[in-house]
Amino acid sequence: MNPLGLHAMVLTVGGDAEATRYAAAIAARAGYDLLELPILDPSTLDTEAVRAAASEHGLDLATSLGLSFDTDVSSTSTAAVEAGTQLLHQAVDVTAAAGADWMCGVLASALGKYPTPPSREGWNNAVAALRDVTAHAQQVGINLGLEVVNRYESNLVNDVADGLTFLDEVGNDHLFLHIDTYHALIEETSLDGAVRLAADRLGYVHVGQNDRGDLATGTVDLDGFLAALNEISFDGPITFEGFSRATADPALADTLAIWRSPWTDGEQLAVDALTFLQARMKTPATS
Ligand code: MN
Repeated sequence: MNPLGLHAMVLTVGGDAEATRYAAAIAARAGYDLLELPILDPSTLDTEAVRAAASEHGLDLATSLGLSFDTDVSSTSTAAVEAGTQLLHQAVDVTAAAGADWMCGVLASALGKYPTPPSREGWNNAVAALRDVTAHAQQVGINLGLEVVNRYESNLVNDVADGLTFLDEVGNDHLFLHIDTYHALIEETSLDGAVRLAADRLGYVHVGQNDRGDLATGTVDLDGFLAALNEISFDGPITFEGFSRATADPALADTLAIWRSPWTDGEQLAVDALTFLQARMKTPATS
């Protein structure tokens, strides 16, 4: 079965050593294989503590981040592109130092609403930056997942078709697509069609409901989506992501427009999400 992951912010706001130990303990107790740690400021991650917590609980690790407008590699400002490239290099180094295998998220643009479509120059800047950063990730043994997000959170790569064009231009097979069902519901013609189009370029998956809560309720057809993952024999990580104003980091919650609190008990939500995923993902015939 795929490594099943939990986004740490379902459990805890903080990214310090204590919060990471807490999240790792809860994720492992629930039965998850992987913990995804947000590293919006990579310099603050306590890599030794993270490595130790993951090892103690037998968890794989992934990291995730989105760029800001000051570090937007799809900008036409040289300063922003340079700052973003430097931040992504630092994030790759922190990811490797923590012992994680994957770094994913909104890596090629700012995480935020743009007033216009991307310019050709901005697109080319993003391609060049990701070519550089992916080569570095390859050197240190990390895979990158380019998260395909909806139009209100980026203007660059909003569906799998955009993502495949971007990957082709970067031209390094250590850069994969990362589909998130919350975003795909808004942008794709169909969830299963998006999976089939991505095929072997798909590396990492976020499962989330339209209200960012319980996987078993909501309008995202997760049964169809997960069946399509089984059909293409997807074997990468599938990570549950949920957000509630009650538990999320306030700054990230503002960026993601998390105004409400559809749930308050992150541990119960995590347990229920894992049960939901385990019931639907195919176990290989031999393991
Ligand atoms: Mn996501």
